[in-house]
Amino acid sequence: MPAHLHPEGIHEVERRTALAAVIHARTPLRPGGGDRRTGRCPQHQHQDLDEQLHVRPAAGRWHCFGCGAGGDVVECVVSTQDLSFTQAVQRLAAAAGCSGWHRAALRGG
Ligand SMILES: [Zn+2]
Repeated sequence: MPAHLHPEGIHEVERRTALAAVIHARTPLRPGGGDRRTGRCPQHQHQDLDEQLHVRPAAGRWHCFGCGAGGDVVECVVSTQDLSFTQAVQRLAAAAGCSGWHRAALRGG
């Protein structure tokens, strides 16, 4: 991760952000058993390969079995909105209402 982003600030963003909601805004998610939800990959739109995207909200992780992409909520924003890691964290921080030193800890260079 970029050195100017404080790890505690990134952790705060991830703690405040609902992964499933971020992904659901890009592609509909359905219950997939247990705490798992499934849907169509938002970045590759596999036309005939539905339900390739698996999301585990409790773990804060997602994975696409169609194209192999996956990660946490920041990596989701990076891959679907064509942002840098820093931009993605800062956008999520603003959306999550992070303030004070958490915002200062995420000020990009
Ligand atoms: Zn995919």
